[in-house]
Amino acid sequence: MNVLIAGAGPTGLTLGIELARRGIPVRVIDKATEYFDGSRGDGLQPRTLEVFEDLGVLDEVLRQGISMPPMKIHLSGQLVGERRMADPVEPTPAIPYPNALMLGQSRTEAILRDKLAEYGVQVELDTALVGFTQTEETVTAELSTGETVEADYLVGADGGRSFVRKHLGIAFEGTTDESIRMLLGDVSADGLDHQSGYWFAAADNPMAGIALTPLSGGDQFQFGAPLDSDDADTSLEGLQALVDKYAGPGVAKLRNLTWSTVWRPNVRLAERFRVGRVFIAGDAAHVHPPTGGQGLNTGVQDAYNLGWKLADGREEVLATYETERRTNAARVLGISEDLMQKHVDGDESAMDRGENTRQLDVSYRNPADTRPLVSGDRAPDAPLVDAAGNKTRLFELFRGPHETLIRFSPTTPPTHPHTVDIGTAYHSPDAVAAYCAHSGDEILIRPDGYLA
Ligand SMILES: Cc1cc2nc3c(=O)[nH]c(=O)nc-3n(C[C@H](O)[C@H](O)[C@H](O)COP(=O)(O)OP(=O)(O)OC[C@H]3O[C@@H](n4cnc5c(N)ncnc54)[C@H](O)[C@@H]3O)c2cc1C
Repeated sequence: MNVLIAGAGPTGLTLGIELARRGIPVRVIDKATEYFDGSRGDGLQPRTLEVFEDLGVLDEVLRQGISMPPMKIHLSGQLVGERRMADPVEPTPAIPYPNALMLGQSRTEAILRDKLAEYGVQVELDTALVGFTQTEETVTAELSTGETVEADYLVGADGGRSFVRKHLGIAFEGTTDESIRMLLGDVSADGLDHQSGYWFAAADNPMAGIALTPLSGGDQFQFGAPLDSDDADTSLEGLQALVDKYAGPGVAKLRNLTWSTVWRPNVRLAERFRVGRVFIAGDAAHVHPPTGGQGLNTGVQDAYNLGWKLADGREEVLATYETERRTNAARVLGISEDLMQKHVDGDESAMDRGENTRQLDVSYRNPADTRPLVSGDRAPDAPLVDAAGNKTRLFELFRGPHETLIRFSPTTPPTHPHTVDIGTAYHSPDAVAAYCAHSGDEILIRPDGYLA
């Protein structure tokens, strides 16, 4: 079995690790000639942090990332208060990482690339997918290097303009709001405190302003400003003129602009996520407005859902990728779109990112089933102690590419290779409470941490 992944963004890299750590031969190609160096998706949601723990990259992500800073709100030159997009929450036994983390996308990608390289897989730059055909048994892909590749599966993780999606003729329904344009960039700002974020606007129009949010690992901020025309000046001088307009002259002196772009919000969802042996994932399958910080995170979750299924290879397992992830993408697009509309309407509650942006409530359960914890729900974490009194956590025990059987006060010897016996080998009132479990109950956890 072998897999070709087109696109080495967060989605393709996550999928590459998922396959490589299962020993599946995988190639990750990218048409870019160098790695992208902008902060773009800089918010990592709690569920993504849990996935990163399983992939073995969380320590590095926590080391490089920063928690969401408070935003200092300045209206017409006056500091009027401080706000957070989400109030920090204390961890619980079930939710070890309850808060989003800020890390520029280029840094997240570098961490994922390093992990992939540990499995001996290097991203192949300057290598575009330029054509493919498939039969029931195989996919034949043409690369821009002139090479022809035979693979069991092809995954298009090739971004919003996905070649794979277009070549499959999959419709990408939705909207591009031509009325909204934003100038985004990574820039240093003398005069501003890098421990804080900033919102500068006019008092009579407080929701139309510019945001500067600190980026970790230096003194840059991610800059975002609304534009009223297409011919924006994306140079340092252009950004400085906008800061002077909204914050007032002399408040911040910009320098060290390393990335800038004009961006318009897109909300689109692919009609299908799969045709035969070819799958699409991440932005190739759904594109989001930045409100709510969901795009990168949803792509990582797609890859985490697809990886073990490709490795499994059974049709009934593979078929669940589209049903589970397309339903979820539609829901997430609804959340981001609502927040976007609130911004456009000048509704202040758009500044608050609610519970549902954390992606901890992502579930593949049957919606008609209203019981508290059922098949398809995220498996909660819980602290445990083993018979010798050593502390561990459920997440540590089901970390890795395998599924795990949890048994509560079992009376028979284990038959599953990855069994956690609570009440005999391990003790945990928190696990019993979280899983509402009774003596003799057994719960199977999928490789991606959802109840089977
Ligand atoms: C300005 C901006 C701000 C954003 N803010 C956030 C945020 O705060 N939070 C968040 O979660 N998300 C955010 N996003 C979205 C996030 O950046 C994307 O959702 C994320 O990059 C998607 O990852 P991906 O791997 O699916 O696709 P991409 O990152 O787009 O990667 C696709 C890759 O495929 C390659 N490729 C394309 N065609 C081919 C081909 N034919 N052959 C081979 N390779 C190919 C490309 O070179 C690229 O490297 C933002 C996006 C933008 C633009």
